[in-house]
Amino acid sequence: MQKVRTTLLRYWAAIMIGALTWCTVLLLPQDAGGLSTSYLQAMAFDSSAQLSNFYSDPSDAVTIRVQGVPYTYNTSASQSTPLPALKPLTTKPAAPTGLKVVSTGSNRVELSWQANSEADLKGYRVAYKPAGGTYQSFFTTSTKCTITGLQNGIKYTLKVKAQNTSDEYSSYSSHVYATPKSTPPSTPSGLKVTSIGNGRIDVAWNPNKGSDLKQYRLAYKPEGGSYKSVFTSGTSYSLTGLTNGKKYTLKVKAINEAGEESNYCSFVYATPTGSSPAPSKANVKVETLAAGTKYATPLYVISSGQPGPVVMVVGGVHGNEEAGYSAARKITEYKINRGTLIVIPEANKLAIEANRRAAPGESDLNRAFPQSSSQNPKNVLSRAIYSAIKDYKVDWLIDLHEGYDYYKNSSTDSVGQTLIYYPANSTKTTAQAIVDDLNKGISSSLKKFSLLRYPVKGSLARAAGEYLGVHTMIFETCDNPSLSIRVNYHTQAVNKLLSSLNMR
Ligand SMILES: [Zn+2]
Repeated sequence: MQKVRTTLLRYWAAIMIGALTWCTVLLLPQDAGGLSTSYLQAMAFDSSAQLSNFYSDPSDAVTIRVQGVPYTYNTSASQSTPLPALKPLTTKPAAPTGLKVVSTGSNRVELSWQANSEADLKGYRVAYKPAGGTYQSFFTTSTKCTITGLQNGIKYTLKVKAQNTSDEYSSYSSHVYATPKSTPPSTPSGLKVTSIGNGRIDVAWNPNKGSDLKQYRLAYKPEGGSYKSVFTSGTSYSLTGLTNGKKYTLKVKAINEAGEESNYCSFVYATPTGSSPAPSKANVKVETLAAGTKYATPLYVISSGQPGPVVMVVGGVHGNEEAGYSAARKITEYKINRGTLIVIPEANKLAIEANRRAAPGESDLNRAFPQSSSQNPKNVLSRAIYSAIKDYKVDWLIDLHEGYDYYKNSSTDSVGQTLIYYPANSTKTTAQAIVDDLNKGISSSLKKFSLLRYPVKGSLARAAGEYLGVHTMIFETCDNPSLSIRVNYHTQAVNKLLSSLNMR
């Protein structure tokens, strides 16, 4: 028996001896749950699966695992449990080789290594620790991984071991080191003033190359004032509502997906001029909505000098829906043939400055409008906008918004790419014409616009439609395409509305 024990030290094995099948079993300590001995033990079974030899304390109960299934054998009693078919004991996998750091970034390290070739390989366990810290590990079936949530500027030790289907581990590979570091975007270049106008400065800059660039922050301040900023994913911007005759300082920085910011570029200066408006703007009046409050925002009244409908275009009710307010700013430059066009390009300036749906610390402006005929608007801005609708006797209103996904993607509840009208009188006919016009240019059915009805209770379009008798609609793009594509959808929708009313 001693010879067998030595020869088969590393295997489960079945040995034919005459009419009996002898199975010699090696029990490693980790395979012998419940076994407290630390020395190797061998035992043999005959063909009827009776324990026939056991080199251990005969009073022990021994558990062996065969392909993960535990079988308990009481060495002091005759064994009646049938012995399973025994397979060669698996061998531990080899330690992985070729571990290397593929890249390091902000709070992250990317690793890869050579694949192991064992047939019973289950995967790998990657372990890593910061200098002076302790190891954490995780399992993966891949031969590469990206570890995130690491601390920048700290040196990490990383290593990997292989695991087989019997949950045996190799020894660890040689380790590698990596130090995650912050990689802010490069400073934008080429900031220049492209045009100035009545309360307006247009600027543009060169695009940043970084693949993880998210947006730019354009900061501006009047002489003697303090900085305000706006966010945009584009490389140009039209600042409006500025004070004519004031010299403004402007600068821009880039922000990546990780929220890291570049330095600001060097300043440029510009002074909006409103004293001698261009002849084409002679019919434009700029008023201030919610004047004298922190919500103050411009309202443009573009008059044709001819009788006709009064159309109001609103952008920026939600401050993080950039295409809506960007399009509305362009629409302030429109000329019309009849009627009156009223534009509130940045309804919620504080939310736009914060690049958030609502102004910081405040609730959603598009739920602040009356929800019954006896209710009043809930706050300063909703009161000012609601009053303007009444004061200017608005006939049609289109409120420009964005959603985070396509409405036709049924796995989300977003209303991106829809026109939502309040059903009254002839509104549907015009709304349908707008949707049809947009969809002519869209081949993907996912991306086509849908016509929906009943803007949500508390919204500007719902309240003005239901209680003020205005033809109203909310226009929503999906914010996946580039900003210029989305802005074009918005202007196309407004253009179609205006042309269907013979205003433009
Ligand atoms: Zn919105």
